[in-house]
Order: sequence, then structure tokens, then C-alpha cells
Amino acid sequence: MMNHIDGFIVQLPLPNHINETKITDTISPNKDVDGFHPMNLGNMMLNLPGFLPATPAGIIELMRRYEIETSGKHCVIIGRSNIVGTPLSMMLSRNSNPGNCTVTLTHSRTKNLKELCLQADILIAAIGRPEFVSADMIKEGAVIIDVGTTRVDDASRERGWRLVGDVNFKDASSKASYITPVPGGVGPMTIASLMMNTLKAMELNGK
Ligand code: NAP
Repeated sequence: MMNHIDGFIVQLPLPNHINETKITDTISPNKDVDGFHPMNLGNMMLNLPGFLPATPAGIIELMRRYEIETSGKHCVIIGRSNIVGTPLSMMLSRNSNPGNCTVTLTHSRTKNLKELCLQADILIAAIGRPEFVSADMIKEGAVIIDVGTTRVDDASRERGWRLVGDVNFKDASSKASYITPVPGGVGPMTIASLMMNTLKAMELNGK
């Protein structure tokens, strides 16, 4: 039965009483299409073959397709999670294209966040705080990638909510050279990466 299944993902976050690492470690690295297994994360760090985490891989592909110049650019990432910020910082700083960025990885203890953001040629927000990044944190002409997706109440919608990114899109659009919308930007790229990994897993399994 298991050989008929080429890829697994665990939909995170799990309830607090369940240890996420324990669960993700039980997945075979050859079927870990989310790329969260320590073996795949280790391979990613060493630039060896393996499954890349879907969201960072989707962002890299987005940059490739839109021919975003990354070499020598200063990229500031807000958020250091294991699924977005940290792997992305490695992928963008390695000697490749897209890549060769000088990366600053920031988090909730970063003291001078606004000043750092204002130095960013490429600003990537992955924190889960709606419209946290405002125009006064953005350098003129910067490339803005908004990973955040938070549901906020919206009585004007039939379903009662809407998705909001970490960047104030309207505000930031006046300064950015490129900006990803929420929804419709990084989200679909994550899904596409996941499907690419699943296809790769099928081929790995000799099909
Ligand atoms: P997470 O595990 O919740 O971590 C959030 C990160 O943001 C942490 O590193 C935290 O710092 C940092 N942070 C929080 N408040 C901050 C502040 N005021 N200033 C600076 N840094 C701050 O993050 P995640 O799982 O990567 O998710 C982040 C967002 O991206 C969420 O909205 C999530 O839904 C979205 N997401 C979207 C996709 C997609 O496909 N579109 C995929 C994955 C995630 P500390 O480490 O210091 O706590």
C-alpha cells in the first residue's frame, strides 16, 4: 500500500500537545515533499539533491521567472521560521542564480528593524502580522515579497473574512518596483512547488 503513495505532507501547525519534529521525522525523506525532514533540510543547506521546502522554493522560482536581479543585492527577510525565513536565507545567499544576495535575517528581537528594511533591495516578510510593513519601511524601487497570510474579519464578504498579507499592499505599491499580492502571490507558488516535489518523488520511486 505505502508504495502507491509517493509523497506525504503534515499540515502544520499541529495542536500544542503534539511534537511536530517527532511527527515530521516519521516521514521517509524520499516522500517528504514538504522538505521538512532533517535529511532534506541538511541536503538543502549543503546544496545537495533533495526536496526543497515548498514556500522558499516557490519564491526562488518566482524570482527566476520575473528575472529579478539578486546578485549582490541586500535582501532583508523578516521572520526566521524553519519553513520560510531560515531556509530562504540560505537559498538566497548561496552562489547561484537567483542567489548571491547579502542576506539579513530578522526576527522579533531585532532592534533596528525599520532601518534594516530601509536598506533592503529585496524585502521578504514572513511573520503573520497583517499589514505590518508600511511604506515608510521600504526603500524606493525595492522588490517586495509578501509571504504572510492572516484571516481578518470582514463583514462585507459573504464568508465573513478575507486574507491579509504582512505588507500594506496599497501603501507599499507606491514605492516598490515589484510586489506580490495576497492572495495570489506566494501562495500559488507554494502549491506549484509542492506539486513539483510530488512529481519528483514519483520519479524517485521509479514510476
Ligand atoms: P512563524 O513560525 O509563525 O514565525 C513567525 C516569525 O516572525 C518568527 O521568526 C518571529 O520571530 C517573527 N516575528 C513575529 N513578530 C515579529 C515582529 N514584530 N518583528 C519581527 N519579526 C517578527 O512563521 P511562518 O510559519 O513562517 O509564517 C509566517 C506567515 O507566513 C504566516 O502568516 C503564514 O500563514 C504565512 N505562510 C504563508 C505561506 C504561503 O504559502 N503563502 C507559507 C508559509 C507561511 P521570533 O522567531 O523571534 O519569534
